[in-house]
Amino acid sequence: MKIAILSGKGGTGKTTVSNNLAALISEAVLIDCDVEEPNSHIFMVPRITGEEEIQTGYPVVDDDKCIHCRKCADFCHYNAIIAGAAATMPLKDLCHDCGGCRLVCPAGAITYEKKGIGTIYTGKSRFGSDFLYGQLHLGELSGVKIINRLNEMTADRDLVLVDSPPGTSCSTVAALEDSDYAVIVTEPTPFGVSDMKMVVEMLREMEIPFSVVVNKAGLGDKEVYDYCRGENLSISGEIPFDRSVAEAYASGKLAVEISDENRSLYNTLWLNIRKEAEKSHEN
Ligand code: SF4
Ligand code: SF4
Repeated sequence: MKIAILSGKGGTGKTTVSNNLAALISEAVLIDCDVEEPNSHIFMVPRITGEEEIQTGYPVVDDDKCIHCRKCADFCHYNAIIAGAAATMPLKDLCHDCGGCRLVCPAGAITYEKKGIGTIYTGKSRFGSDFLYGQLHLGELSGVKIINRLNEMTADRDLVLVDSPPGTSCSTVAALEDSDYAVIVTEPTPFGVSDMKMVVEMLREMEIPFSVVVNKAGLGDKEVYDYCRGENLSISGEIPFDRSVAEAYASGKLAVEISDENRSLYNTLWLNIRKEAEKSHEN
């Protein structure tokens, strides 16, 4: 089973939830798909045993062969080729490696070269479970290829927890690929609710069953509860705001490490999520 943990915006607590669950469930593989800003490794402190560079292709135009017909530029959906009367210039940072420009070029003027866009690290977390994370190189625009590869590398695992990118970007959609269930982590503030609404729409569109976890419960207002009731959304659990947990987090420690009460809280949360996930697949 693959369970994605996501949120409408960064800083809501999806890493907190996914990492605490991964620390408790030894058979779970955690993958950090937030490749632009991965931070699960700060808490998992993995012993890295493997590294894989992820590459992407980009077009190169042979000026001697190019007949300046502009077909490549007209085809490219990402405006990654500038074609003028005297020169044709691919913009490799905008290229999505779809391969289309080479197919439409009537002169055989386009070849592809490769460049590294990021790295996947694999290893064991300090809790003994398998852990993978991707890191997009600075300046690269899309981490989708890295996320697709993380998905591929864990496709045969029985239980995968995904620390997803925040929001509803292409990267989030890629991280959700083949997910059996999702958990939206939100907080009881008006901002939390408004960002969460787009995630709810995305999951409904993708037909992925989900429930909600309210982080920092006790702060803020009741709007998130009203919204969940109005939309008939199930709440799998609430994580109360706790200053000692926030202080531990700042020094790289997880809630489940600092008290039995927190372990019990996350154990119950996991049981609820699993029950909801199984129930959603019975229907
Ligand atoms: S490979 Fe695709 S995205 Fe890249 S320049 Fe060619 S058409 Fe555009
Ligand atoms: S499609 Fe080929 S020949 Fe036409 S402008 Fe592009 S590179 Fe040149």
